[in-house]
Amino acid sequence: MTPKTFKIKSFGCQMNVYDGERMSELLGAQGMAAAADGEDADLVVLNTCHIREKAAEKAYSDIGRLRREDGSKPLIALAGCVAQAEGAEARRRSPMIDLVVGPQAYHRLPEMIAQAAGGGRPVDTDMPAISKFDALPARRRATPSAFLTVQEGCDKFCTYCVVPYTRGAEVSRPWDDIVAEAHALVDGGAREIVLLGQNVNAWSDGHRGLAELIRKLATIAGLERIRYTTSHPADMTDALIAAHGEVDKLMPYLHLPVQSGSNRILQAMNRSHTTDTYLRLLERMRAARPDIALSGDFIVAFPGETERDFEATLQLVDEVRYAAAYSFKYSARPGTPAATMEDQIPRDVMEDRLRRLHERINTHQLAFNRSKVGVHTQILIERAGRQDGQMIGKSPWLRSRRRPRHRPARARVRAALFARAAVRRLRPSPDYHRAAPRGAHRRAGQQGADRRRSGCCGARPRCPDWPLQPARQRP
Ligand code: SF4
Repeated sequence: MTPKTFKIKSFGCQMNVYDGERMSELLGAQGMAAAADGEDADLVVLNTCHIREKAAEKAYSDIGRLRREDGSKPLIALAGCVAQAEGAEARRRSPMIDLVVGPQAYHRLPEMIAQAAGGGRPVDTDMPAISKFDALPARRRATPSAFLTVQEGCDKFCTYCVVPYTRGAEVSRPWDDIVAEAHALVDGGAREIVLLGQNVNAWSDGHRGLAELIRKLATIAGLERIRYTTSHPADMTDALIAAHGEVDKLMPYLHLPVQSGSNRILQAMNRSHTTDTYLRLLERMRAARPDIALSGDFIVAFPGETERDFEATLQLVDEVRYAAAYSFKYSARPGTPAATMEDQIPRDVMEDRLRRLHERINTHQLAFNRSKVGVHTQILIERAGRQDGQMIGKSPWLRSRRRPRHRPARARVRAALFARAAVRRLRPSPDYHRAAPRGAHRRAGQQGADRRRSGCCGARPRCPDWPLQPARQRP
């Protein structure tokens, strides 16, 4: 039976979120409707992530849960990087899967669904020369902050990473296509565009780079904010650094993964930078845009990482004073060079290092958040909060803000999509709670409805990310 309703569940990075949105538009253009929350869908697309073992396993365990009480099941499509990496093998692992489609082939979903509905079991993990973007419907509606993929794939081959194998070589979308899609997003309601790519700052059309593209997009009337992610230090050009100082619409936030503070480990990871080149780069970024908030990625316990290597990572964190950072335990991915390296690190050491790194990052995150208390800034309102009248948005530094429900003017905020506000108080992030010692939450007490809801400890001086709440609305 041809499905009439669908549900798409995306795991992993923002590029998967973007792909999920495009698949949804594609299926909508075929006359299918998104299933309502809590409603069974005729078709479920699992848009998977392969970057960590846990993410891939989660996709398979989700498939098992799709079997209904009466024994029936929806049509199941496995998409994303697990689909690309495992291909037909995925169907052997889980016979419930009806079709397997890689991230470069999802424009073929409608015909593959028709084949699967007719009893076929299609698998497409090709990386065709024709751009899938040409086969996707035009963008119509957009959220206040919208993703726009400008680049896909990676040529860097970091030794721990599957992306070059699952997403293929670096490919940049054409300039005109990107500009047209940006216009469509703004016409559809977007006020912020986040340019996406596995190595977004490697975007090039042969003679222009990401800096020129950003300058062009900044001329679009109605577009107020531009961000981009994720970047590689090796592709941070002089022009891009200068754009941060000169393009007002380019937000003062840069996510620049470093992964380790040890040059020995960076070399083993095949990262093409050292801690010195990375730090010099950040100095230049801060000179170009003094209020920039810096964010990074870290992998702890890479094979062969010694305590001394790990200490070097902590030192780097102290030196940079990140406003935010994402840290992960090393996860061996089959087929990558690091998976077969000697000196894999025991799990208890991994966990100890991750906890210590979280604590160090949280200290700097708290300092950054505190530096913004009382600072009036523009908030892009993105969605309604759980409480009636509550609005949630983002500051230029990508900090979440909640606009309390007791403050009216909702209609005005909706119309403008922007509110001017100052941080009044901070509330802890879930990361803090994961890193906090056992029992700390209860010892510190739980006062106030907000803290009870978040399970917060109330240990205010130590909490890195109290939700930033606007003090007052300005006209
Ligand atoms: S640069 Fe990023 S996407 Fe490319 S291989 Fe390294 S970690 Fe993976």
